[in-house]
Amino acid sequence: MGDGGKCRDVVRLLADYLEHQLPADEHAALERHLERCQRCVTQLRTYQSTVSLLRSLREDELPPELRLRLKAFVDARCRN
Ligand SMILES: [Zn+2]
Repeated sequence: MGDGGKCRDVVRLLADYLEHQLPADEHAALERHLERCQRCVTQLRTYQSTVSLLRSLREDELPPELRLRLKAFVDARCRN
């Protein structure tokens, strides 16, 4: 994903990143992006709090529709 990647790449990988499912190089690239993109950091925090809220309600995996909704949310306001 290049040097830190773009916001879209970050959003696509966010769920896997938080679940520590990414290969080490992609994980590192995503963290490099977060160091210079405050908007994605904000997204990450929003995502994290949403996920932890869901997990406090039930133990299921993150629903696909939530991933899509978050992606659409970021696509609309984060355009690096
Ligand atoms: Zn970004």
